Amino acid sequence: MAIDTDAIIKGDRRSLAKGITLIESTREGDRELAQALLHKLLPQTGKSIRVGITGVPGVGKSTFIEALGLYLIEQGHRVAVLAVDPSSPVAGGSILGDKTRMELLSRNDAAFIRPSPAGAALGGVAQKTRESMLLCEAAGYDVILVETVGVGQSEHQVAQMVDFFLVLMLPGGGDELQGIKKGIIELADAIVINKADGDSEGIARLTKQHYSSALSLLSHEAHWSPEVITCSALHKRDVDSVWTMVEAFKDASLDAGALESRRAKQNLAWMYQLIDDMLRVNIKTHQSVQSMLPAIEQKVREAAMTPLAGAQKIIALSQQ
Ligand code: GDP
Repeated sequence: MAIDTDAIIKGDRRSLAKGITLIESTREGDRELAQALLHKLLPQTGKSIRVGITGVPGVGKSTFIEALGLYLIEQGHRVAVLAVDPSSPVAGGSILGDKTRMELLSRNDAAFIRPSPAGAALGGVAQKTRESMLLCEAAGYDVILVETVGVGQSEHQVAQMVDFFLVLMLPGGGDELQGIKKGIIELADAIVINKADGDSEGIARLTKQHYSSALSLLSHEAHWSPEVITCSALHKRDVDSVWTMVEAFKDASLDAGALESRRAKQNLAWMYQLIDDMLRVNIKTHQSVQSMLPAIEQKVREAAMTPLAGAQKIIALSQQ
């Protein structure tokens, strides 16, 4: 597949979409082409603000992203929305696959929306989204929103690829009622209580107090204390305040040199993750390993061999 890098840099959507398709491809040989493409575009990347957005299904993610996206476009930004959805590896991504979601945003020329890549294991989905994000930056999108459902491990992976991680919550209820898993709050740079409208406004205020005090107990970086704010995505109320907060975070992080160091750390972690993935693939596809693997797995299952001895045996075989 020939990809026109100049066209991507000029912001041509079709070329960008084709580039992302190449990145997502599992076809033999496409991996190298995708890497070559990324290498060429790398100097044009990194100039966006990357924001991760998570929350349980129904919390209002797509309503919020549409409201925020349209607001940002009004302010002159170009917005790319990507998704990491571990729940639909086959169907082509459910969170953004449904065209009725973010209808106005998806029709806007200054927005680019891409569903979760299909056909990859979770680690792979996140990796492809990471690479797609770089392509969007090269194409001139200066705000990248990465959406993920609040289930599984995907929030951790998204938090690892963005500058700012935002957790959407509902008014009322403790963590368990909200379906929020332990640990997610620790990842948050901000908590946004959505649906703070109608009868829920008062409850939203209480929920805000609850999470503000919960967050104040956690340790945080010197330049930023995670904030809690309320909004109504449906009525487009205080969605702009969310962005004012992201801008404040960006300014504080830039002053402290923290944005650069966070990205540097993420890049290193990404490299080590790739090493793990590549080593595992290389080991498991090694001929001597393949022929012995069923027998070793069987022994480990039956406790006739310890997992450690099994691992050592497999690694020794892969080095033959
Ligand atoms: P997602 O599954 O997290 O993407 O949630 P959706 O954006 O699809 O929203 C789920 C439902 O909540 C829809 O019926 C929305 O209209 C509704 N909703 C979203 N945001 C708000 C809000 O701010 N206030 C109210 N009252 N309803 C909302």
